[in-house]
Amino acid sequence: MSPYDENNIFAKILRGEIPCDKVYEDDYALAFNDISPQAPVHILVIPKGSYVSIDDFGANASDGEISGFYRAVANIAREKQLPDGGFRVIANTGLNGGQEVPHFHVHILGGTALGPMLTKAA
Ligand code: AMP
Repeated sequence: MSPYDENNIFAKILRGEIPCDKVYEDDYALAFNDISPQAPVHILVIPKGSYVSIDDFGANASDGEISGFYRAVANIAREKQLPDGGFRVIANTGLNGGQEVPHFHVHILGGTALGPMLTKAA
């Protein structure tokens, strides 16, 4: 696993060095609208700690950070009234996963029928 890059764009957003369209913040998570939305609702949720990926987060974050983060994800989905119609949570990870920003994040996608999970099968 690559070491955490303190200059990745989400680290800069967390430090307040560049702006974001914030939708939620608590002690464990910051959430903001994706700059290039792929659905009517497309929110990114990032942990406050410096973790490269879900692999790094799961291996090295505390139980409190992990539970706080995933509770925030669920709270945001509920605040956006997504559970009734359904929604999708994605964590792109590493090269094969197409992860562009090396600070762990999940995408919350919803607001419409999202179709098949993958457009390209193995
Ligand atoms: P991923 O491929 O999972 O790493 O996704 C990174 C996501 O970050 C993409 O959906 C981008 O559109 C989004 N993104 C990149 N820069 C910003 C930014 N400054 N504010 C909001 N979203 C961003």
